[in-house]
Amino acid sequence: MKRNNKQSVYLDNNATTMAAPEVFDAMAPFLRGRYGNPSSMHGFGGSVAKDVAGARMSVAELVGAVNDFEIVFTGTGTESDNLAILGTLEYYKDRRHIITSRVEHPAVLSLCKKLEKDGYRVTYVPVDGAGSLDLEFLKGSIDDNTAIVSIMYANNETGVIFPVEEIGALVKQRGITFHVDAVQAAGKIPIDVNKIRCDLLTVSGHKFHAPKGIGALYVRRGTRIRPILIGGHQEKGRRPGTENVPGIIGIGKAAELALEHLGEYAARVKRLRDRLEQGILGKFSNARLNGDKEKRVPNTSNIGFEFIEGEAILLYLDEQGIAASSGSACSSGSLEPSHVLRAMGVPFTSAHGSTRFSLSRYTTEEEIDYVLSVIPGVVGRLLEISPYWDNAKKEPVPINL
Ligand code: PLP
Repeated sequence: MKRNNKQSVYLDNNATTMAAPEVFDAMAPFLRGRYGNPSSMHGFGGSVAKDVAGARMSVAELVGAVNDFEIVFTGTGTESDNLAILGTLEYYKDRRHIITSRVEHPAVLSLCKKLEKDGYRVTYVPVDGAGSLDLEFLKGSIDDNTAIVSIMYANNETGVIFPVEEIGALVKQRGITFHVDAVQAAGKIPIDVNKIRCDLLTVSGHKFHAPKGIGALYVRRGTRIRPILIGGHQEKGRRPGTENVPGIIGIGKAAELALEHLGEYAARVKRLRDRLEQGILGKFSNARLNGDKEKRVPNTSNIGFEFIEGEAILLYLDEQGIAASSGSACSSGSLEPSHVLRAMGVPFTSAHGSTRFSLSRYTTEEEIDYVLSVIPGVVGRLLEISPYWDNAKKEPVPINL
């Protein structure tokens, strides 16, 4: 594939982010001289343990927790989601019902499908056309057999935010464990585990400028949960295995920076995202926004281009040095419209052409200008070769069924 290497614009930050330079600098000593094991009794270990404790507190602050021991470090967001759900089921062995939504990340959804095969009952709460959750349905689904309700904070594909505080109130009224997958919320909007009243909350470092391979699970003091790995006593027995110290230092620094930059997300990043979105929606009659316009994290825009293929858009954009996504990184590669857009009832003709642009605090005005200058050519070329679009009449070809 020929690429214009003059420009390189990364708008796929919901898939992963670049590690912040400050994060890299904070980690470096722990990859060189400070290699001690935080569990060791000697000075090498003890001094490292202090820094690990500092990082734990920084992650606690990012999610609004008061106690550092409520943070368990894991390998990824996926592992945190698995620990939350499997660890709860392992404790409440007699409860065999799980509630989640139809639009969760595979880290939750695929696990629930597997649990169904193992004999658990799973309720998948539907969403409406704007991607908003049916709260009445959720409320009606809770019963005495429910072990856990696991709902995401913000959707990775559309950015739509779920009303987790309202859900928390509903779930805790019934005394049931509430897990929130906040992987796409952390670092983009304020998180307060005490307002949400959740027992468990997942974050993943590489989504907010820490490196890949470090996640965390907030576990409210007193929450009943069993480990899913068997081994030593690390992480107070909740996640055995020698700690990934450089990763932990990295996520701690990234959490501090994320808190500092929350205001910038709400203002500058949102303004850039809206400019990109309006620039596209205002120009193309075949473009529509997927997901609620208001209740969204400030960095995400998912746009459906009717009558053209999302994968083709991505390839043409990539040729021009622009990285975007046609859905979640895990599902791109398959030509099926994403499960999120299908759950929202997005028409087939538009779901296929859906493209996700996700910005970060490193995205610049110039980059957005560049993307806006490239998109008309890309969409125009693809409409020209689309069998569903009449170029002479500038309208869709009538489909005879
Ligand atoms: N949950 C959500 C909402 C996500 O977007 C992702 C990753 O895209 C995950 C969980 C999994 O996180 P990780 O990549 O750290 O395993």
